[in-house]
Amino acid sequence: MRLILIGPPGAGKGTQARLLGEQFRIPHISTGEMLREEVQAQTELGKKAQRLMSRGKLVPDAVMLDMIAVRLRLPDTAGGFLLDGFPRTVSQAVALDSLLEKSDRELDAIVAIIVEPEILVNRLSARRTCADCNTVYNLVVKPPGKMGVCDVCGGTNLIQRDDDKPATIRERLRVYEKQTAPLLSYYLPSGRLREIPGDDTVAAVQKNILAALPPANQMD
Ligand code: AMP
Repeated sequence: MRLILIGPPGAGKGTQARLLGEQFRIPHISTGEMLREEVQAQTELGKKAQRLMSRGKLVPDAVMLDMIAVRLRLPDTAGGFLLDGFPRTVSQAVALDSLLEKSDRELDAIVAIIVEPEILVNRLSARRTCADCNTVYNLVVKPPGKMGVCDVCGGTNLIQRDDDKPATIRERLRVYEKQTAPLLSYYLPSGRLREIPGDDTVAAVQKNILAALPPANQMD
């Protein structure tokens, strides 16, 4: 199963990607997460990426392509993969197509989660991330069991990511509309694009995604 998940910031893409990765036992490859690891480790790439990410801008295509080319060569992707946050521009999508073609692989489905912009701003402003293990919460729809304490690792440092602050949120949404939304037109002719409404519970959205996937890939 080779899947791409597309969606504006705050659409619940990361949450759905994690669930689908577990369900199909395929690696969940989040380029945002890979970049945040570089930032945390303060590598040269991380330092450059941090400046762009904290302003809501995209990291250059060439950097992302190198990163994804290396990742898709790892043996754990042999049985499939789920890309979360890549491609984010049409030129990344074109490059991904040729990368996959070279290794005789093709995408099974491109899932796009659709949510109205006003809902996204509210959701993102309420988002908090555990600084210790990166688990993501939402103070309104998915709060931790005990306020201020991470359910997963017990850490007490639930922070608002720089890119979840209001000015950056607006910029990220603008960048999505301009640079990422055109991916829908790019993938439409493939017949493998599935547009799923994301303004629902996590479980309902997941059910709809699973129902929209090609029959051979559906799980019991
Ligand atoms: P995400 O966690 O997917 O929302 O990504 C966080 C940030 O990482 C984005 O706002 C971008 O600055 C950067 N980023 C992640 N994936 C990509 C990509 N495929 N192309 C360019 N920038 C990316």
